[in-house]
Amino acid sequence: MNQLLAGKKFLIMGVANDRSIAWAIAKQLHEAGATLAFSYQGDRLESRVLKLVESTMPGSTMVQVDVTREEEIASAFALLKEQWGTMDGLVHSLAFAKSEELEGHFSDTSREGYLLAQDISAYSLVAVSRFAKTLMVEGGSIITMTYLGGERVLANYNVMGVAKAALDQSVRYLAADLGEQNIRVNAISAGPINTLAARGVRNFSTILGVVAEKAPLKRNITQEEVAKTALFLASDLSSGITGEVIHVDAGYHIMA
Ligand code: NAD
Repeated sequence: MNQLLAGKKFLIMGVANDRSIAWAIAKQLHEAGATLAFSYQGDRLESRVLKLVESTMPGSTMVQVDVTREEEIASAFALLKEQWGTMDGLVHSLAFAKSEELEGHFSDTSREGYLLAQDISAYSLVAVSRFAKTLMVEGGSIITMTYLGGERVLANYNVMGVAKAALDQSVRYLAADLGEQNIRVNAISAGPINTLAARGVRNFSTILGVVAEKAPLKRNITQEEVAKTALFLASDLSSGITGEVIHVDAGYHIMA
């Protein structure tokens, strides 16, 4: 097996279960030799994520981070500083919008719902990058997950599309800002995958069908395909790439 990430230390944010994109990425990075820490959202997920991690990567650092809580972000990075001293990157694979905002008229989006989606799904990347940069003393790679709904209007994606647009632009501003520290910041725009978060989007199975029919590769993509691209972005193989949004969507985004 390749050891592209031997000796490298990455924080994985956003594992909820074994279908999570973050979990597929964790497995790829682990197989490539990386040491991993996992952040999970709240007590509710702790035992499930712990069980998953212990079955494959026993001894990994686990830390609770709800990204709306600045103090939880701060204590997570304080723990990593204590345990690791330095780190080489992080995977930000999380988002949230209230289900009622993911259907109906976009013009009916509430102020609260709009701000919540922005806070969790876009601002959190800026917040965690601010802490991570102090530990990424030898540069490294920050990776986030985005979706085509941030570039184009897609049915029912509504407020999350606006949050993904902000996330995509945050990737570019962070890349410009952190480049002098040799910290690269990129996003993967994944095609639709049946995960917990995806089930919050109305008619999600219809979207899967449309993509499989229209995409150049005539199929949907898997978590593993996203994860292989994340491994590329995490490793030195992508050393010249920053501020980029790479589509792993069977080519769907090129079609009219
Ligand atoms: P998932 O439900 O497995 O993961 C979403 C994660 O977000 C969960 O682990 C959840 O705990 C976390 N989260 C939500 N609110 C949080 C908060 N306040 N603090 C900390 N964590 C919080 O679903 P997924 O599909 O693996 O989603 C991961 C990322 O991939 C998301 O950014 C999503 O928008 C993106 N994405 C998903 C698809 C898809 O079709 N599944 C497509 C493109 C992009």
